[in-house]
Amino acid sequence: MELHELSISQLGSLIKNKEVSIPKLTRYMLDRIEKLDSAYGCYITVAEEKAMEQAADVQARLDGGNLDSPLAGIPMAVKDNICTKGILTTCASRMLYNFIPPYDAHVVGKLYENGAILLGKVNMDEFAMGSSTESSYFKKTFNPLDTERVPGGSSGGAAAAVASGEAIYCLGSYTGGSIRQPAAFCGCVGIKPTYGLVSRFGLVAYASSFDQVGPLTRTVSDCAMVLGAIAGHDPMDATSTRKRIPDYTKALVQDVRGLRIGIPGEFVDDSVDEDIRNAVFKAIQVFSEQGAECKEISIPVMEYVVPTYYIIALAEASSNLARYDGVKYGYRTSEYKDLIDMCKRTRSEGFGTEVKRRILLGTYVLSSGYFDAYYKKALKARTIISREFGRAFEECDIIMGPVAPTTAYKIGEKINDPLKMYMEDIFTVPANITGLPALAIPAGIDRNNMPIGLQLIGKRFDESTIFRAGYTFEQTIGSNWTSSRMNNQVNNQVKNK
Ligand code: GLN
Repeated sequence: MELHELSISQLGSLIKNKEVSIPKLTRYMLDRIEKLDSAYGCYITVAEEKAMEQAADVQARLDGGNLDSPLAGIPMAVKDNICTKGILTTCASRMLYNFIPPYDAHVVGKLYENGAILLGKVNMDEFAMGSSTESSYFKKTFNPLDTERVPGGSSGGAAAAVASGEAIYCLGSYTGGSIRQPAAFCGCVGIKPTYGLVSRFGLVAYASSFDQVGPLTRTVSDCAMVLGAIAGHDPMDATSTRKRIPDYTKALVQDVRGLRIGIPGEFVDDSVDEDIRNAVFKAIQVFSEQGAECKEISIPVMEYVVPTYYIIALAEASSNLARYDGVKYGYRTSEYKDLIDMCKRTRSEGFGTEVKRRILLGTYVLSSGYFDAYYKKALKARTIISREFGRAFEECDIIMGPVAPTTAYKIGEKINDPLKMYMEDIFTVPANITGLPALAIPAGIDRNNMPIGLQLIGKRFDESTIFRAGYTFEQTIGSNWTSSRMNNQVNNQVKNK
């Protein structure tokens, strides 16, 4: 296997045994990005010089015995809405085309402490608003498994970078599904941790009561390792937990005996592609054979989850994005009459169509005449949805279903129909509305050879149980990444370009 196909722990032992040096591994990854990225469009910024400096520094720390982390020397990339000191952080928007943060996000600092090497910043939907990475101001990202298809979104650049071997792992962010859905579309693993497990300090805000950072990786073990490194309390984020963070790698055992897995009937109805439904049924069989107790449950509020999410998220977005006025940072229009005119023109020119649509809708649902009818009602619905999930968790330890009703679709297929695009989020937004953790893992392919994602939703702060179940599944069916099929498919796409 080539270096980019290895997992974090495999690369870690090569580094430890001095079979590969960190600068050499970093150079290898940078060369790979140089060779492939024109085909996939994963990166907005490649931080070549910094990455090589970091590589030398981390190698010295390691050689001096000052570093003991499984992430030491492993090259990774970060979604472009997570602040990186001295490195452009654009949110894939013209509005922040020149924004260089003076500080690192908490999660980035944590990874640096662990000796991670930052290769660069990866593409996304503008301000993380979207599901296909088509709304980036800079470029489109193509699905490495079929370049006519989207990589999912909004962390599409991150998922595509992992799938194409342009990064060993990435940090993404999610608000309504932006890690699990692209992970599913590109055949990767991704976790949305419990709200509050990971600090939001330095993550550019979209909808603060939903936003979190999480890893996209190739294997469940890699995912557990990265989450363990970034989780935990941060005095800069009052919503971050003070709970002790368990060692998630201890949960990586192949044992689901007695585990109660609930499958909501609403997650496998006719609205879901047949191949995806069949993959879920196959997963039920796999888990049952491994000793889990799988049973059908019902969550009768599913029809309300998408409207509830979009009302609250857009209301919060309209408030969060008010800070982009051309005064403090980012884009400013060149010609204007006065302050108000400058602000208007800056916002008209700086934001893309989808972001404007969301600011307008968010402002509308918060306006005095509609606040009760929409925003307040959505908050009530959020409570009811959380209660329903709480009730379901009395009967089971994990809720299982597909990540999305379809696999990766063709570029351009849904971009002009926002409602169709929003409806795609139906299975991912419940975990965001309720704050519950959810793991996405590859669970086979559909008739077009595109990956199918399975999600395991857990109880609050019970990431360990979903890691255990995910690991068991991965070990039983064999990770996509241990087979050469995915790699061949990626390589064929490069040849065809
Ligand atoms: N697709 C969802 C949206 O457009 C989720 C995005 C996200 O999680 N950042 O809002």
